Amino acid sequence: MGLVKCLSETRLEHMRQDDCIFCKIAAKETPTLILGDSEHALAFKDISPLAPVHLLVISKDHFRDAVELTANAPEVLADMMQLATHEALQYTDGSFRLQFNTGASAGQTVFHAHLHILSDSPKGGN
Ligand code: 5GP
Ligand code: ZN
Repeated sequence: MGLVKCLSETRLEHMRQDDCIFCKIAAKETPTLILGDSEHALAFKDISPLAPVHLLVISKDHFRDAVELTANAPEVLADMMQLATHEALQYTDGSFRLQFNTGASAGQTVFHAHLHILSDSPKGGN
């Protein structure tokens, strides 16, 4: 009984936050073009690219950052990494960076876990 309560509280914590832009994208409530879709994650272009290839991979459920994500849902983290490497190999020549900004002073502005895919080497040089 205690375990059931604990699990259901954990689940509630990671449900949609109404004021979160990435929850809105995950719920398909914005006109974002989705490039990749897996069991737990979505991939799309960053709206303000910092590199010739700049994609984001977000969790479908809400976690505030990589720390909360890793502690509570390692299977979601693994799924995000699989989607990120799949998208990176599709859009780059194989050279890329994967980055979680964690905390405001590290540059995190959207407090819903997301992985940046950054590359100076688009596939085919485009
Ligand atoms: P952070 O700074 O939190 O690590 O990364 C958030 C990223 O989300 C930023 O690079 C920002 O440009 C991107 N971003 C914020 N709002 C939107 C949006 O509505 N659509 C898309 N595609 N990207 C967004
Ligand atoms: Zn969210």
